[in-house]
Amino acid sequence: MSAPDPDCLFCKIVAGEIPSTQVYADDDCYAFADTNPQAPTHVLVVPRAHFTDVADLARDAKASAALLAGVRAFAAQEGLTDFRTVFNTGREVGQTVFHTHAHVLAGRPFTWPPG
Ligand code: AMP
Ligand code: ZN
Repeated sequence: MSAPDPDCLFCKIVAGEIPSTQVYADDDCYAFADTNPQAPTHVLVVPRAHFTDVADLARDAKASAALLAGVRAFAAQEGLTDFRTVFNTGREVGQTVFHTHAHVLAGRPFTWPPG
């Protein structure tokens, strides 16, 4: 884990310095609506602490479990049984914000493989 990054968009969202639409929160996680939704449900679940990507997060077993628990809790809250969880890791696969975030998408059929 790194210290909060003053230039990190999602650290600012977690701190309430940039507005977001909260959909779920607990001691370790914060979840908010994606501003460019790719499905009827498209939220981002982020650790409150700053990690750069899921590989960085995975070095911390407790924080990793807490983020997955947040995904599960959000899905349970919404009654979602079918949903897709995506972690983009690296620019080549589309990561644009370097604060670990789980995309949780639901509400339409999805194809595989992803584009
Ligand atoms: P990624 O491309 O995997 O890094 O995902 C970053 C996601 O953050 C994209 O789906 C964006 O639409 C979303 N995003 C960017 N800025 C904001 C914001 N201020 N509030 C909510 N979602 C955002
Ligand atoms: Zn951050």
